[in-house]
Amino acid sequence: MSTKYVYFFGAGKADGNAKMKNELGGKGANLAEMTNIGLPVPAGFTISTEVCTYYYAHEKTYPPELEAQVDAAMAQVEKAMGKKFGDTTDPLLVSCRSGARESMPGMMDTVLNIGLNDVTVEALTKASGNERFAWDSYRRFVQMYGDVVMGLKPEKKTDIDPFEDLLEKKKHAAGVHFDNELSVAQLKELVAEFKAAIKAKTGLDFPTDPKKQVWGAVGAVFSSWMNDRAIVYRRTYGIPHEWGTAVNVQAMVFGNLGDDCATGVALTRDGALGTPGYCGDYLINAQGEDVVAGIRTPLRIEETLAKDMPKAFEELDSIGKILEGHYKDVQDIEFTVEKGKVWMLQTRNAKRTGFAAVRIAVDLVEEGKITDKEAISPKRIPADDLNQLLQPVFDLAGKKAAQAGGKLLTKGINAGPGAAFGQIVFHADDAEAIFLKNPKAELVLVRRETTPEDLRGMKVAKGILTAFGGASSHAALVSRQMGKVCVVGASELNIDYEKATVTVGGKTLKEGDFISIDGFTGEVFEGKVDTKPSEVIQVLISKTMKPEESETYQRFAKLMSWADKYRTLKVRTNADEPKQATQAVSFGAEGIGLCRTEHMFFDHVDEFREMILAGDLPSREKALAKLLPFQREDFYGLFKAMNGLPVTIRLLDPPLHEFLPHDHASQADLAAKIGIPADYIARRVHELHESNPMLGHRGCRLGIVYPEITAMQARAIFEAACKLKKEGLTVIPEVMIPLVGYVAEFKNQEKVVREQAEKVFAETGESVEYLVGTMVEVPRACATADQIAGAAEFFSFGTNDLTQTTLGISRDDYGGFINHYKENDIVPNDPFQMIDQAGVGTLMKMGVEKGRSGRPGLKIGICGEHGGEPSSVVFCHKIGLDYVSCSPFRVPIARLAAAQAALADAK
Ligand code: PEP
Ligand code: MG
Repeated sequence: MSTKYVYFFGAGKADGNAKMKNELGGKGANLAEMTNIGLPVPAGFTISTEVCTYYYAHEKTYPPELEAQVDAAMAQVEKAMGKKFGDTTDPLLVSCRSGARESMPGMMDTVLNIGLNDVTVEALTKASGNERFAWDSYRRFVQMYGDVVMGLKPEKKTDIDPFEDLLEKKKHAAGVHFDNELSVAQLKELVAEFKAAIKAKTGLDFPTDPKKQVWGAVGAVFSSWMNDRAIVYRRTYGIPHEWGTAVNVQAMVFGNLGDDCATGVALTRDGALGTPGYCGDYLINAQGEDVVAGIRTPLRIEETLAKDMPKAFEELDSIGKILEGHYKDVQDIEFTVEKGKVWMLQTRNAKRTGFAAVRIAVDLVEEGKITDKEAISPKRIPADDLNQLLQPVFDLAGKKAAQAGGKLLTKGINAGPGAAFGQIVFHADDAEAIFLKNPKAELVLVRRETTPEDLRGMKVAKGILTAFGGASSHAALVSRQMGKVCVVGASELNIDYEKATVTVGGKTLKEGDFISIDGFTGEVFEGKVDTKPSEVIQVLISKTMKPEESETYQRFAKLMSWADKYRTLKVRTNADEPKQATQAVSFGAEGIGLCRTEHMFFDHVDEFREMILAGDLPSREKALAKLLPFQREDFYGLFKAMNGLPVTIRLLDPPLHEFLPHDHASQADLAAKIGIPADYIARRVHELHESNPMLGHRGCRLGIVYPEITAMQARAIFEAACKLKKEGLTVIPEVMIPLVGYVAEFKNQEKVVREQAEKVFAETGESVEYLVGTMVEVPRACATADQIAGAAEFFSFGTNDLTQTTLGISRDDYGGFINHYKENDIVPNDPFQMIDQAGVGTLMKMGVEKGRSGRPGLKIGICGEHGGEPSSVVFCHKIGLDYVSCSPFRVPIARLAAAQAALADAK
């Protein structure tokens, strides 16, 4: 039996269903599903993703069986629609669209109105009784086909699109603003001019054979899988290139047949904030692209559709309810109203901001549509998206002052919540170039509208502001997904790309001027408006709001309680100050996984420098004696803040010369302060210089050569703990030795720590339980983990150094080539952000297995930066770690990711 490549849907029955996303892509699978559940879907067929894979493996050719299968499916479509493709009395027209497993909005190509030629256009005129419609459709078809299939679309956005140019000239000559104001005669002229432009550029005649047209469109859609923007998108969202796209060929229905017709896109709930009820755009008498392209600013479904087209609205409303009930999630739909009748062209689970994701998930649980387990699935709430609830918003007083000071420029549609200010940049390429030079640059990308070519620039901007387009425009959709602050459709903005200015209400702002946008309200301000913490932060951290005053907080808290119910991995924090520690506990941290003690010396740097500069033991001990009380106080504060939760304190790690002044003036300055000759300081700096300090005299190597440093730190830890014990607080310090590779290194330092503990216990008459464990951050520690675990009471993976030492890539110097590596698919992502599971991860697994063979039940955590990155958290769960430790603001993300890992495990 030959392979099935083509799947029909229509007339209430489909070959496929929603579960077949791998074969049919998201769009095709859902068109089939909607057909199966009785929704009005124009008939069509899906060519499977397998054909795309074949196409690329066989020099852009198709499987031999495909043509016959397409012909058979087309015959079924004709039967279902009661029209014939290429017919010269009442022709069926079709569309051809891409559809990958994961939606990639706007990244690939589409061709509409296929089947028109000089003969069928006349037939369409007669059949529809609307000559303007027929020629408008023909004009659009030649333009799209010319762009997409015959390659006239300019490669760079700055180049002129020949069709747009001809269209603009025609409108100018006719003295009109919009395409729909052109006369039939002018449309006919345009069709001829478009064809001439194609012939001039390609030397080819425009194809008149409808069948040839379909195959041209199918080939173009498959080819668009490998266009630059689709590749960039897949890289950004981790979609494998091997998946390929399906192609959907579907009977056209028309939203541009008159004023009882419309086309629209909508979400069944608001995608920015999650509020219930339709949220979307429509245009009367228009075709689909007009809405998303942002050419005409569309109308809002929730505001006017019920009035404009009451019957269609009612039908759409009931379809929305059926879809939400069926898919148990908010849907993003495309529809056309043809002569009052609603047709569904697409449905998919809606993209949403982190705010909306949390609200929708909690609401759906409360509506009884999903369970709490389903609510926290990574598909509904990618753990990273929680970040948006922790991001700043505009300070109300600052905003009022800006309003009173006449800084409010205009108001657009709120499409991506949050507050952002930044310098205006008009072109995505410029934004990217600025960002590459200065990754801290604060930019707001200001455009008439965005298109998929702008993706890279959008990624680096803090906010996105457009003059056209609605809540479902490209800018809105993509920003929402990226979690960017976004305002669209601020139609009063007059943007002049050539002059690099934006003018509104008599004011002109230039490129580089500051602008502020409020993604909750759509307001646009001149200059910088101060931001303030989000509601969740106000409740948890600054305590300026009570929990009952914030619904957003309450939903967040509910969600976190569900996450805690299911996760098994504990979440700690990396903190060295009581304030950070308290914040982290408010975010749900269950202990400190890493206190970097070198950070504690920043406030006492002169005494610390004196210690480093000491040339002999007595003078070093004198300097250390000065440091001891500071350290004791710092540990006391930290233990107290953690109120009995475990605290892991890592002994001194970094290369000593990092603390010393390197230029002449500051050496002289230090000499005067601590009473040591400047030339002596210069000599010590020289002596301590290392060619490769990251692999030099740091970590336990310091404490081994200078055991008095370890002794001072250990003493400070135990004195602080004993003092608190006396005050009635139980503290269980976990002392951690850095950069251990040999068990002998560990034992050497452990001895110093235990000796000090015994001394302090004897002196104070108090004792505390404590552990001595180790960082696992060099490959040798993984390879000999059984030996090390024989002595060490716990492990904590330092994946920053473990990545550095496993890959042989300096953690400080990889910025120069990592982007090149990512763009050339040499690495899937930055290994210092996401654990390199195949490499570093394999060593971690070895560390866990060997470690626990040396000490059954050994407690193991991670404290490298990866501990707050969701995919790495999932990995840590899988390999059996006990906890992850991350920066305070990532604690909620790690809690959610840990629950997602546990639930995935249970499946
Ligand atoms: C690590 O190496 O992962 C780690 C936590 O230590 P540091 O970043 O301080 O070297
Ligand atoms: Mg380290």
